[in-house]
Amino acid sequence: MARHIYVHNPFCARKCPYCDFYSVTDNFLCEEFYKAAIKETELIGSVITEDAGTNPLTDPDGKDTVYFGGGTPTVPDSRYICELLGAVRKAFNIASDAEITIEANPSSVTPEKLTEYRQAGFNRISLGVQSLDDEVLKTLGRLHDSKGAIEALKKISEAGFTNISSDLITGVPGETLDGIKRDIGTFKELGVKHISTYSLSIEEGTEFYRRYSGNIEDLVSPELERSMYHGTREYLQKLGYETYEISNSALPGYKSIHNSSYWNSCEYFAIGAGAHGFLNDLRYGHRDDVRAYIEEMNTVTYDTYKAFLEGNESFLKSLYVEERLTREDKMREVPFLRLRTTDGILLDEFKKVFGVEFEDVFADAVKTNLEKGLLERKERTLRLTRSGLDLANIVIEDFL
Ligand code: SF4
Repeated sequence: MARHIYVHNPFCARKCPYCDFYSVTDNFLCEEFYKAAIKETELIGSVITEDAGTNPLTDPDGKDTVYFGGGTPTVPDSRYICELLGAVRKAFNIASDAEITIEANPSSVTPEKLTEYRQAGFNRISLGVQSLDDEVLKTLGRLHDSKGAIEALKKISEAGFTNISSDLITGVPGETLDGIKRDIGTFKELGVKHISTYSLSIEEGTEFYRRYSGNIEDLVSPELERSMYHGTREYLQKLGYETYEISNSALPGYKSIHNSSYWNSCEYFAIGAGAHGFLNDLRYGHRDDVRAYIEEMNTVTYDTYKAFLEGNESFLKSLYVEERLTREDKMREVPFLRLRTTDGILLDEFKKVFGVEFEDVFADAVKTNLEKGLLERKERTLRLTRSGLDLANIVIEDFL
């Protein structure tokens, strides 16, 4: 039975002005942080039982996954990353056919680092390209230019990675659909198998929020952003990338198994400051505080950590329980997570897990959205229509 592990690497070379992920730019705490992360990994490994974090009913892919996200995992010394992956593989007894991903940035990958990652067991890499238009990259405040991104993709292939993902941001002021299409074509030529496309969102607390919140006319209009989204999706399909989730498209055989595990309500372990996990009906998180994390992991004991994972959060400062899910909460999470996917809600799966029909539990929301043409029913699945995709958040709210 499969296990899923997310590791948050909270270090970046510089803070991008639109980013609200947790990361710090003072990397002098790296060594202590990775020691602490190894300690946490070993603690979890000694606490968990054979079946903990496995989901035979809801895990269609059935493969272990490990995901090193961030922050930028390619910023710290590769030695720390490879040692931590070694500890994760050992503690969780990760299978040899697991999907093991590392996020990377074009400005921090080198042939040497990439070779070390491959040797340590990473077999999938996700490169934060965002755009191959130098003006757009400047607006986004990225450290790389298009030439650097293309060189990084070549280095990644040369190091032996075949499962390569790249990110694109759409809706950036000055960006065009033609430019996005050109970027996708270049990705295809360079062997990129999976493309994530995210619409630029202006999050509170970011530099972009300060820059744009009062000047909304400087941004791409919602109509143009939507037409870019659909144009991008059509072009991805033309080049053979199947969109399997609102933001994710892949060539056949290259969907992200790790991300799919989230949309399938699988449990997953979290390691590192800023990481979030789901275990024993508990959505839990690590506070966005590298120092507090290091201090805690230096002192935490087996018993305390075990008590936390069993639902008793009172002894820990850097970890906290976000939410304890009831059966009703878990049922509500199904439309919340599954309507983002193009497979939609699998009605037989829902019945198997909860023992009731989805359409009985959510009768009103299903009826209303079918009538509005925002949902469609195909045999034993329910999914968003094309117009439903544009109003996904509003449809999902009807189920909450
Ligand atoms: S590199 Fe990624 S994680 Fe780091 S600040 Fe930029 S967008 Fe955020």
